[in-house]
Parts: sequence; structure tokens; C-alpha cells
Amino acid sequence: MKRIAILGSTGSIGTQALEVIKANPDSFELEVITANNNADLLITQALEFNPNTVVIANENLYDTVKDALQHTDVKVYAGANALCSVVEMGTVDMVLTAMVGYAGLQPTIRAIKAGKQIALANKETLVVAGKLITDLAREYGVNIYPVDSEHSAIFQCLAGEFHNPIEKIILTASGGPFRGRTAAELAHVTKGQALKHPNWDMGAKITIDSASLMNKGLEVIEAKWLFGLRNEQIEVVVHPQSIIHSLVQFEDGSIKAQLGLPDMKLPIQYAMGYPERLKSDYPRFNFMDYPQLTFEQPDMKTFRNLALAFEAMGKGGNLPCTLNAANEVAVSAFLEDKVGFLEMSDIIESCMAKVAYIANPSYEDYVSTDKEARQRASELILK
Ligand code: NDP
Repeated sequence: MKRIAILGSTGSIGTQALEVIKANPDSFELEVITANNNADLLITQALEFNPNTVVIANENLYDTVKDALQHTDVKVYAGANALCSVVEMGTVDMVLTAMVGYAGLQPTIRAIKAGKQIALANKETLVVAGKLITDLAREYGVNIYPVDSEHSAIFQCLAGEFHNPIEKIILTASGGPFRGRTAAELAHVTKGQALKHPNWDMGAKITIDSASLMNKGLEVIEAKWLFGLRNEQIEVVVHPQSIIHSLVQFEDGSIKAQLGLPDMKLPIQYAMGYPERLKSDYPRFNFMDYPQLTFEQPDMKTFRNLALAFEAMGKGGNLPCTLNAANEVAVSAFLEDKVGFLEMSDIIESCMAKVAYIANPSYEDYVSTDKEARQRASELILK
């Protein structure tokens, strides 16, 4: 029985993780759930699952949650500091980081320092501070299990291959809703179009990142740190059907791939249940339903975010942190109709050029880089 804390239980990953827990009552016990603003869903989840503790990050909503749960044993806390404290609870074995964005960094650091196993959905954590996080995980003897479907695929391909060096990994990308479009066509796409992902139903931020290929860029950086790869060992191939979730090529030339229908419950369950493969009744893949699995080169000239992410990874230091912060601000602005689709890349590129580069950043450097990049990106949006 693993006792789980879910940071971001009201989101796309969080709600699916709760389905996994519900389907496997002998394997998982829910200890902690958290949300940012969605007090109603947090309350509903608390009443259904009866966790030890809930946290609402928005302190203004504390009374709402507390009042609704006053007749239960559930402990209620509020604020960003509470998010960091609950992951340290003695009754938590594993923390599923399913918050979105940079906000996931600090609670993840605290969870690692408290020796908790990590099921990592919050890829931004590794993009911002991959070296710091992986060094800490080594120091505290903590395993980081990937939840992202591509990284879960690679992790599954590596099972039993501990001593066999990787030649390269190939991350697959669906290409998103705008695959094949020209820059001229992209100039006028709307957020409504960008939010319609062809294969996956996800939170708004990652859906926009998928449309702009930034999501794949973030995953490239995430993979580098998760699997200890050199930059040139990571490739991206567009695979519009999202059936092959990613591949590993070994030094003998053999390639292993992991396949399945696009359903995040499987990688969530694999990360939480590792090393066991828990039985599931999720819909099964059938080759006859997908007679054509196809592959293309990603178009990094049109979808510049992917090229910018490769550049940030190549130069390293605090540059991926700058990229991430500028992207978070740009995506929010796009979702508020303040900037166009292509302007997001302009903002990120400009911030990468202007924010001071630090080759070996400390935690404090990441905090100041994030702040400076957000400020610069916001100024560009106001212009
Ligand atoms: P959602 O936007 O659906 O959910 C985000 C969750 O985080 C919500 O519970 C939200 O609370 C909470 N949250 C947001 N901001 C804060 C904050 N500042 N402080 C505390 N809590 C916060 O996101 P997803 O579930 O789609 O994605 C979560 C993470 O998982 C992302 O890093 C994403 O890249 C990654 N991921 C997602 C996949 C997917 O299929 N969705 C696939 C692979 C990775 P509230 O509801 O109250 O706003």
C-alpha cells in the first residue's frame, strides 16, 4: 500500500490519478490533495476520498474549504507554504507533482529533501532546475518516476537494460492541431483552435504548449535530466497518431518502443505502482484500428519554440529557466488574447537574449532568473 499526496488533484492529471487510486484500493491510499482556486472540486474530492489533509493554495478560499469540511476529519490548510509542508508529512510515501508550471519547483524540492518518492508530471520542475533536482534526488536516495507518457515509454523500454548504454532516444510528438501549417497561417490562429488537441485532453497550458511544440521542447530537456543523456542523444519525430509513445535505441542498433492508446491513466498508474504492473481495464490498442502509423520530421522553422528549447538545453545554465518563465507568461497572454500565436516565440527568444546568463545557477539564481524573465516577458506584452 503506497500512501500518495497529489499536488494539483483538481487538474487533468490529478483527476485521472484519483481514478487510478479509486480503481486500485489495495495498492494506493490517498493522504493529501491540493488545488489552487478550484475549491468546489477540491471539496467534492475530499468528501469522496476522505484524505488526511487538503490544501487550497489561494488563501482567500480557506474558509470556503474549511466550512465545507467541518463535519469531517480532513485537515485543511491554505497557501503556498502549506503546499511545501504537507509533502513532508510522515504518512506520505509518494508525491505526485501534478501542478502546472514553475510553482511545482519548491514543493518538489521539499518532497525530495523529505525522502519522498516522486511521480513527476510537472515537467517544468526539471526544465527549470534539472541539475539541482537530479543532484538532490541522488543525495537523498529518492527515485523520480516519470508520468509524462513519452518519458514513461522510455522508462518502460529501459526496464532490464540497466547496464546497456543508450545510443539515443526518440521522443514522439503528435504535432498538435496545427501540424503542417505555414507561419502565415499560424499568425491568425485562435486560442479556441489551439485548445483543440487532436489526441489528448489536457490542461490549458500544456495544450497550448503542444500546439506550439514547446511541450516537446520542454520534454526534450526533461528527458535529458531524467535519463542522464547528452544533448545529441535526444531526437524528436512527429507521429500524429500518438500510439508509439517514444523509443530507445541501444548501442547494438536495436530499438525498443512502448505503444498504447493515448490515455494518461496508464503512465500515471505505472509511475505510482512501479515496479508492479497493476491490472487495468483501460481500452486496449488494436493494430487493425490503426493500419497506418506515420512519421515526419518536426518543422522547427515554423514551430520555433522547439528550436528555442534545443538551444536552451545546448547552452544550459539558467537558460532553460528563462525559456520556461517567458513561455509561461506568453502562454497566459495568448490565453487572454493579448498576443498572437507566433508572438509567443518572439517573447521567449527576446527574453533568452536579454536575461543575464548564469552558467552554474544556485536555487536563488533560478528564483531571480524566473522573476527577471517574467518581468521582461510582461513588458514585451504591454508594448
Ligand atoms: P491542469 O491545468 O489541468 O491542472 C493544474 C493543477 O495544478 C490544478 O489542480 C491546479 O489547481 C493546480 N495549480 C495550478 N497552479 C497552481 C499554483 N500556482 N499553486 C498550486 N496549485 C496550482 O494541468 P495538467 O493536469 O494538464 O498538467 C499538470 C502538469 O502535468 C503540467 O506540468 C503538465 O505539463 C504535466 N503533464 C500533463 C499531462 C496531461 O495529460 N494533462 C501530460 C503530461 C504532463 P486549480 O484547478 O485550482 O486551478
